[in-house]
Amino acid sequence: NGGSAQSGSRVMVEARAVSKHFGSGEQVVKALDAVSVGIREGEFFTLLGPSGCGKTTLLRLIAGFEHPTAGAILLDGADISGLPPFRRPVNTVFQSYALFPHLTVAENIGFGLEMLGRPKAEIAETVAEMLQMVRMEAMRDRQTSQLSGGQQQRVALARALAPRPKVLLLDEPLSALDLKLRKEMQVELKRLQTETGITFVFVTHDQGEALAMSDRIAVMSEGNVLQVGSPTEIYEHPADHFVASFIGETNFLTAAVEGVDGGQVRLRLGGTLEVRAGLPDGMAPGPSVTVVVRPEHLRIADRDAGEGLPATVSDVVYLGTDTHYHLRLAGGEELFARVQNRPEGGEAWRVGDAVSAGFPPAAVRVLRD
Ligand code: ATP
Repeated sequence: NGGSAQSGSRVMVEARAVSKHFGSGEQVVKALDAVSVGIREGEFFTLLGPSGCGKTTLLRLIAGFEHPTAGAILLDGADISGLPPFRRPVNTVFQSYALFPHLTVAENIGFGLEMLGRPKAEIAETVAEMLQMVRMEAMRDRQTSQLSGGQQQRVALARALAPRPKVLLLDEPLSALDLKLRKEMQVELKRLQTETGITFVFVTHDQGEALAMSDRIAVMSEGNVLQVGSPTEIYEHPADHFVASFIGETNFLTAAVEGVDGGQVRLRLGGTLEVRAGLPDGMAPGPSVTVVVRPEHLRIADRDAGEGLPATVSDVVYLGTDTHYHLRLAGGEELFARVQNRPEGGEAWRVGDAVSAGFPPAAVRVLRD
């Protein structure tokens, strides 16, 4: 995943300093606070954040179900803020699917095209094409009430894609499915997006889902976009504390700043360990900074053998694929290490063992204050 061959650099959807307030006076809820984001043509773009951060509101503004309190929504360079939903070349797949239960699969898929008054032959051709694309040809004459959740999901997707929108908006479309089906549909959705080349804007609060499917992710919190980047950029170079803790598991450590040369900083960790690390653009660090080290980058060694931080094992959790170790540093800070289990077995540490917790210098990321 990651870098898509499809997405160009042209911006398809742009939110320009968009604010959305609900209510007024004391009761006002600022669902979005001057959000600016550009979604490129043909990319799988995900709005990711915890419940209430404003992702659905942003999606509804793009769809036209809501209007911004301030700012503008642009589509393909044109301001569409004033257009009603049906005038926008945008379609939405809802969490609930919203299929018509008394219509067949084929009738559901063709419904939007009928409404648009397209010729019968063209509708039949598009419906056949869509059925094939979502692999539902055998189900074309079934009532949608007779379908499983995953099948209904496919029909909802086919129906939304049939009019060939420029942008498809998806609001947590997989959340009603069980885990196994959800994983299958993740692959399926990504395939549909690549095949059609349509710009997808996907809303989820599930970081694993976002990492697995997206070309780029916007991480949101409390009505703001905190970082936009590819899954690797977001995971490996989180901009701040919130992004680092929301995407994956991580260790935060306080490091003393020994010196700064250019974009690099010399740090001392746990009073002993010296490392050099890159600085986020334009950051002028104070006497100390917070750094992030992902649990899979920690290496545990014998206390005497290692060059890392002296630590004591405080907890061990065996999880099949890997083992999680909780370590306590001399200064009282806690570290969490994830060690992959190997077929030949390996060093296993026990609670109370005196160890050394090391990591490659490249694993250390400095966060903005
Ligand atoms: P979830 O994952 O729970 O759907 P979300 O990130 O999509 O959350 P939004 O639904 O966009 O969040 O809501 C953002 C904020 O705006 C929340 O505080 C919510 O209560 C508020 N809000 C959303 N719609 C309305 C509305 N119609 N009237 C009043 N407040 C609203």
